[in-house]
Amino acid sequence: MNKAEFDFHAELNDFLPSEKKGQAVTYLFQGRPGIKDPIEAIGIPHPEVAAIVVNGRSVGFDYQLNNGDQVSAYPTSDIVDIAPLIALREKPRRHAAFIVDVNLGKLARRLRLCGLDTKYCNNYDDRDVADLSVRENRIVLTRDRRLLHLKTIIHGYWVRASDPDSQLKEVLRRFDLTRRILPFHRCIECNGLIRAVNKADVRRQLEPLTRQYYEEFFRCSACNKVYWKGSHYEHMLSHLTHLLGKI
Ligand SMILES: [Zn+2]
Repeated sequence: MNKAEFDFHAELNDFLPSEKKGQAVTYLFQGRPGIKDPIEAIGIPHPEVAAIVVNGRSVGFDYQLNNGDQVSAYPTSDIVDIAPLIALREKPRRHAAFIVDVNLGKLARRLRLCGLDTKYCNNYDDRDVADLSVRENRIVLTRDRRLLHLKTIIHGYWVRASDPDSQLKEVLRRFDLTRRILPFHRCIECNGLIRAVNKADVRRQLEPLTRQYYEEFFRCSACNKVYWKGSHYEHMLSHLTHLLGKI
């Protein structure tokens, strides 16, 4: 039986049982498995790993494990300073477009409120999420770490926090998005783009008081929902500002 030793850095430890966090993990194997297999067998979803160093040298997912290898795996937040550093995957072609798993509906609405391109549907199954992620080059956000073990998923992140506001902060921080926030850019309900419209065009959709007090209106180009900067908007913005102040 062959043996290799694995060190998981920073938040990759979140996937290890408490007694193994921060400890070297010994992995026994036969033959020469691809490096992705032991990492996944130990419980780390491959999209969470940003760099792998074996015996002091950066390797890709095509590396095959040898007896006696010393392996270190790093997340994005803790990229190792080693040259040449081999990237495990290409960067997403588009900056931060997300596909959000069914268990994160409240996070999806918050991301849309921030103007971030976020697909979500409460009846997607794992395959739908994985397919959309690949086809539309979207980053999978999930609370279900098993989902990230699917081979087809290239870009993905396991959301640690359980409360939706903390989840939003976590994702904004993880993908460095605080300067890309554009409120009133995307529809909270459907992710469609929101555009300014003339009051006359939406007059019939408005309640009498809204019609009386507001002049500036926006409409979702996909589902036609009408938005205006009323007290609800002010409330959402101040909530967001408060949250972002704490990032
Ligand atoms: Zn819409």
